[in-house]
Amino acid sequence: MKKNDLLTLKITGMGNEGEGIGKVDGFPLFIKDALPGDVIQAKVLKVKKTYGYARLMEILTPSPERIEPLCPLHRSCGGCQIQALSYEKQLKFKWEKVQGQLIRIGGFADPPLFPVLGMDEPFHYRNKAQFPFGRDRDGRTVTGFYASRTHSIISNTDCILGVPENQKILKIILDFMEKEKIAPYDEMSGEGLLRHVLIRKGFATGELMVCLIINGYEIPAVERLADYLFEITGMTSLTLNVNRKNTNVIMGEDIILVRGQTFITDQIGSVQYQISPLSFYQVNPVQTKKLYETALDYAGLTGREIVWDLYCGIGTISLFLAQRAGKVYGVEVVPQAVDDARKNARLNGLSNVEFYLGKAEEVLPKQYGRNGIRADVIVVDPPRKGCDKACLDTMISMKPERIVYVSCDSATLARDLKILCEGGYELKAVQPVDMFPQTAGVENVTLLNRK
Ligand code: SAH
Repeated sequence: MKKNDLLTLKITGMGNEGEGIGKVDGFPLFIKDALPGDVIQAKVLKVKKTYGYARLMEILTPSPERIEPLCPLHRSCGGCQIQALSYEKQLKFKWEKVQGQLIRIGGFADPPLFPVLGMDEPFHYRNKAQFPFGRDRDGRTVTGFYASRTHSIISNTDCILGVPENQKILKIILDFMEKEKIAPYDEMSGEGLLRHVLIRKGFATGELMVCLIINGYEIPAVERLADYLFEITGMTSLTLNVNRKNTNVIMGEDIILVRGQTFITDQIGSVQYQISPLSFYQVNPVQTKKLYETALDYAGLTGREIVWDLYCGIGTISLFLAQRAGKVYGVEVVPQAVDDARKNARLNGLSNVEFYLGKAEEVLPKQYGRNGIRADVIVVDPPRKGCDKACLDTMISMKPERIVYVSCDSATLARDLKILCEGGYELKAVQPVDMFPQTAGVENVTLLNRK
């Protein structure tokens, strides 16, 4: 087999990123947009030692699991990997992915894995969107999404995962750029002003945040833009974020207020949260409620416990737990998020929470070594790369009765669960929650008890 070969094959499996897998004489090929059950024609892109990649050219016989995707751009856009798969089968795929990783990476023979909690309406669920600005081939300013694995922009203001306000906001910004002759940022030359826009909506409150990420310190005639944007119901916060670096990181460090306030407020369950542009906030509020309720349930609180919430962001889980705990300590590395967390504790009248700014793998060992802190329950919710080994080791030394591990990456979750179980814990429950319908991603809440 070699590059550019045209092959006919049947797809028999799915990879962790939602790609179809088919075998030719026992040699597996990964093929984006192909689904189990499809018989396809594919063109070989790359051949490695034990596997290869191919491009879907034509579907000869469609899989019975295939549906008509709602978005016409689903193949070219890098956002939704499995939109053509029926939602029921998406949930099955995610369950099997988590199970496979717990077995293979975690070494759990028969993991206690519950069915995935899905959504009734698996579209328009995202409260946050980040759109890049650029130019199309004719030099027109466009916004949309990056094509998968590239930085070329596919013009689209109507993403079916997002809120309807996105479209209105983007139209206003594009019109404004044209009228005021404001150039989009060009990654190659480093010139141009407007890089991205971050849009967030509080689903419970209706409040809207628009943050423009710019390669400079001001936007000419920005007050006029503010006038247009604030005609949209719910507009609460318009800010600028300065990013003059030539990097892939979207946001810089400084926030400049243009109109309204620098944050929006949202509510999950009975807790209110104030959210700044630079703070992490879960993108799917409907599913987040299920996620946090499960975490609270697993924490098994009676009102007396000392709880540590590591990687706490704006204190979302911390405050959920504080309603039923003796004392909660949160640890978070982003300063603005810690500011938000402290304000959020006050906003909800919760005085039994305290927040530390710093890395979990530094704050926890330091507090444990120097101040002999203890914990009845430790909750962790790290980014995709999982927990640092120093953090896991300290958690094990602290001997909490229960550990609740919330994770957005089941591979690093399985790796870390293995370490915790070798350190004296038993895996009691894994609850997957579908926070990201139409994509290959899946979130999990897990409970570990001390043996
Ligand atoms: N529990 C929160 C946030 C989870 S996202 C929620 O549900 O909303 C993960 C968070 O970990 C982010 O806020 C990120 O800024 C923070 N983070 C990343 N690396 C960290 C580290 N080494 N130590 C502490 N926090 C970290």
